[in-house]
Amino acid sequence: MVMFKSGDVVKVLIPNVVNTGYDYRLNAPADLGTFVECRVMNRPYIGVVWGLPDSKLPEDKIKSVVRVLDASMPVTTLQWIKRMAEWTLMTPGAVLKLIINIPDAFSPPRMQALYSFDFDAKARMTESRQAVADAFASNDNDPMSINDIVNIAHVSQSVVRGMVKNETLKPVDMRAVEDENRFVHLYHDMGTVQLNDEQSFAAGEIGGAIEHGGFSVFLLDGITGSGKTQVYFDSALRAYNAGKSVLLMMPEIALTAQFMSRFESRFGAPPVVWHSNLTAARRRDIWRGVLNGDIRVVVGTRSALFLPWQNLGLIVVDEEHDTSYKQEDMGNYHARDMAILRASIEKIPVVLASATPSAETLENVANGKYRGLKLCSRFGGATLPKIETIDLRENRPESYRISNDENAPDVPGALSNPLCDAIRETLDNHQQVMLFINRRGFAPIVQCKKCGWTATCDDCSVGMNYHKRIGKLLCHMCGRTEMMPDKCPNCGENVSMRGVGVEKIEAEIAARFPNARTALVSSDTIASRQSLERIVSKMESGEIDIVIGTQILAKGHHFPNLTLVGVVDSDMGLFGTDFRAAEHTFQQLFQVAGRAGRGEFPGRVLLQTYQPDHPVLMAICAGNRDDFMNTDMDGRRVAKMPPYGQLIAVIVEGVRENVLQKYCADLASVAPNIVGGKIMGPVPAQIYQVRNWYRMRFLISGDVRAMLQPIVADWIARIKQPANIRVKIDVNPVNFM
Ligand code: ADP
Ligand code: ZN
Ligand code: ZN
Repeated sequence: MVMFKSGDVVKVLIPNVVNTGYDYRLNAPADLGTFVECRVMNRPYIGVVWGLPDSKLPEDKIKSVVRVLDASMPVTTLQWIKRMAEWTLMTPGAVLKLIINIPDAFSPPRMQALYSFDFDAKARMTESRQAVADAFASNDNDPMSINDIVNIAHVSQSVVRGMVKNETLKPVDMRAVEDENRFVHLYHDMGTVQLNDEQSFAAGEIGGAIEHGGFSVFLLDGITGSGKTQVYFDSALRAYNAGKSVLLMMPEIALTAQFMSRFESRFGAPPVVWHSNLTAARRRDIWRGVLNGDIRVVVGTRSALFLPWQNLGLIVVDEEHDTSYKQEDMGNYHARDMAILRASIEKIPVVLASATPSAETLENVANGKYRGLKLCSRFGGATLPKIETIDLRENRPESYRISNDENAPDVPGALSNPLCDAIRETLDNHQQVMLFINRRGFAPIVQCKKCGWTATCDDCSVGMNYHKRIGKLLCHMCGRTEMMPDKCPNCGENVSMRGVGVEKIEAEIAARFPNARTALVSSDTIASRQSLERIVSKMESGEIDIVIGTQILAKGHHFPNLTLVGVVDSDMGLFGTDFRAAEHTFQQLFQVAGRAGRGEFPGRVLLQTYQPDHPVLMAICAGNRDDFMNTDMDGRRVAKMPPYGQLIAVIVEGVRENVLQKYCADLASVAPNIVGGKIMGPVPAQIYQVRNWYRMRFLISGDVRAMLQPIVADWIARIKQPANIRVKIDVNPVNFM
């Protein structure tokens, strides 16, 4: 029974950020959720039948859809779009745009010139060439169009043309590659894994919920290395075997080769992987496979939540505390929260997994909304590492000499003697070391000691960082580079570099341990997951003794021979200004610590700090996550911060400062009174200028029960937005910059 017949007028939602639905006349029968093609301002769109018409247009002014497609999304998805829009204050059209983002999903595969990468070509291995090679690797070496290569490898058209010319890229016969079903796999439990008692119990509880159906949220709360993955694999197989679809979400950097091979050995076939670096053909085939129900298990990043799921039975959110689930560029949403919302509408279970759950999730376990399932021991009896602080007040790092040259200057060091001794001992035992410092580049501050001049970005109100690899100053906000000045542009004195980044640690290690084989891992050296994988496999094969890196290193990997983790600056995150600073520092250090001692040798973690008795560090050393989080959460309860209160940030950006200020003042003058809440601001945002846009902030707070979203939406709508002003609404913000 279809709901609408040919000739009926319906409201069609268009995937467009300003859209809330237009009226169209159907030219064939359709249902709620049926995809239709229609034209808006003479451009073709795929939209969905969204509801009853509500415009007052005369009959003859209503356009007909171009065609009604033989595909639809479930009504539950429509409900989810509506609820997500209400929650995030995105338009429904903006949410739909996250789902319908495959331009040619309903057209025949496009014929275009495709190229394959010749890995044996004799051409020199440049950075761009490596990036292109990695782009192919992240698509299982599928042939790619020039557009694919440019988009995924982030190289220019001319680089690609050059590679075609020197035959690194070879044209292929395009018909040879069309196989829409290449991602359709059959899975079954290979029986390769025997769950231990804790794992079986957890898997049994989730399995029961899958069997009974209905909405429920589980927190799979297990220390690093306790085997959470195998538990949710078990759940995924159960849901799959019951004929349902399964979404496994994880942060991009957790989509490792290690993970893929574990999946394959348990499920009997490789996973279908979804992330932002897929070729257009791959995206299209996976999207269509999910839509028609042939693909029922997808492992992906947050955007996989927006695949056209038909019959979801289970969603897993691995590393649920990870901030990469928060989307901040095009619409603000938290993929974990939106997954839970989706599950509540689909009436299915969700599994959140983490060794360091977020305060929000822990609170929901405490108040009984979520079920907590604990895994308390490391799988196979590996012991947790011993975690100690090194008090830098008593162990000031000594200076070191860059080279053997007698006359070479001494450089102030960042590694204390106890840490150096531990490194030496570990190397002597032929085991591996990881040094962690969450700062890119060589030195974060470039300054004149005489007049105080500091290198800052012209377009952003932040300092420039010195990066030794590129030999330039780099702005971490906008990516702008500048030459490193010889002398202070102000007074002509020599400039000095302050602070410590990964590159400086690399230099210090090279001087102190000249025989050690080291690798540097930061977003500047690791352009893709493949380049990270290269380092991971070198770690596994023992070709690296010391790996030095930023937070990219903190999670996911399992290195049996890694027994020492050193955190160069444990204090860095403690002084953040937002209320999650302590939580995030704790999570990060705890995750880093979890890298050590995962094999047969016990691990050791050393945290360099000027504040050994800071509660965050004491809690980490004592392995006392729950005590720490409880104290942190008590503080938030008193301050009425999330999860005990709500926040909405409104960031207003403008090219012209006076227009921005005027608009903000106008908004402030019509700010409503909120029962149980208030509107604070406007104040200049913490980073006042980014890419030449000035930024102001309002913060709206309210108690948990207040319905802030409609109030904020109504308020913002009261003042007409001038040209060159952007308003970004961030519900439950994570980033306070
Ligand atoms: P977590 O995700 O909780 O940090 P992992 O899932 O990575 O832990 O598991 C740690 C290690 O133990 C992995 O090498 C994993 O393959 C192994 N493992 C976990 N559970 C089992 C099991 N039941 N049988 C065999 N190996 C297991
Ligand atoms: Zn100066
Ligand atoms: Zn900048």
